[in-house]
Amino acid sequence: MAKLSGKKALIIGGSRGIGAAIVKQLSSEGASVRFTWAGSRTKAEDLARQTGAEAIQADATDRSAILAATRDAGPIDIFVFNAGICIAGDPLTLDPDDIDRMIDINIRAAYHASVEAARSMPDGGRIILIGSTNANRVPFTGLAAYSMTKSALQSMVRGLARDFGDRHITVNVIQPGPTDTDMNPANGPQADLMHSVMAIKEHGSAEDVAAYVSFLASPAARGITGAMQTIDGGFSA
Ligand code: NDP
Repeated sequence: MAKLSGKKALIIGGSRGIGAAIVKQLSSEGASVRFTWAGSRTKAEDLARQTGAEAIQADATDRSAILAATRDAGPIDIFVFNAGICIAGDPLTLDPDDIDRMIDINIRAAYHASVEAARSMPDGGRIILIGSTNANRVPFTGLAAYSMTKSALQSMVRGLARDFGDRHITVNVIQPGPTDTDMNPANGPQADLMHSVMAIKEHGSAEDVAAYVSFLASPAARGITGAMQTIDGGFSA
């Protein structure tokens, strides 16, 4: 029997990059997978066709849409909040509306959807947030607001792990380092700078992160909760 057969999974932000790799991984392990997308209709439809997962449009900046998508998918055994944007640059000139949009997606939606998922989650369920190694270390200029959104997830998982621990629901944040996606291409202009602070001087892959999600979803990870799972090639070492 496949490792996750009989399990229902919801990935918020699954159309591209790390989210798409998670959709593929959990589907290949037998889970019944739904994922949300906001702007990438064609990629979402292709991925759904390829994996058998169900694609739902729901913009994470719209609280009622994201709550409805989470509620309609329930009860969910494995909930993954992956959606995220990175607004980087000089804090004195960045558009405040762009920063607020990032806070809406990276923090507000992550919190409200996680709580909604927990409402009907069976005992032993999994809540997994995708944070960033920048929650631990900010070695470059221009990343204050993005890093702030990701460090908020650290206290979120510490607290929610306590709130739902009596139901054996685990709550963790995976903190990737530079990972080759549209957001951060391995051949992008900042790649050498990022590699200069890493022990292993190369981008990771979306599949590396998806494998970590799969482990956290497995019975072997039942005692891991309220914890930061950093997978960053030594970026924060
Ligand atoms: P991509 O830009 O490649 O993909 C982002 C994903 O988030 C897409 O599926 C996108 O969906 C979704 N998304 C964006 N905005 C919204 C929204 N408003 N509502 C719903 N979904 C949305 O990024 P990555 O795959 O690289 O990043 C995934 C996560 O990993 C993010 O949280 C990011 O911060 C984190 N991360 C990435 C790192 C990297 O180096 N790549 C390093 C550390 C953390 P759509 O296109 O349909 O809008």
